[in-house]
Amino acid sequence: MPADDRPACGTEAAYRTHLAAGEDCETCREAHNERARGDDKKRARSRAQSRALKALARCFPIEYNALYQQELAKETTDVE
Ligand SMILES: [Zn+2]
Repeated sequence: MPADDRPACGTEAAYRTHLAAGEDCETCREAHNERARGDDKKRARSRAQSRALKALARCFPIEYNALYQQELAKETTDVE
């Protein structure tokens, strides 16, 4: 592929292009690792939020179930 058609270094597309070509590019590798660290933080926050919601549901089962049924009803009407 001509160099001009390649994605700019530092992007995920460029990282994958290097990977497919068997090339190592420090700029792309470091940018990719930085994004992966950000994803790890996002996943950690998501897991913590999920555990907090489950704990909240155990504390307020009636309120949780009412909200859950309300939200579930929206899902089934959205799908149709
Ligand atoms: Zn690169």
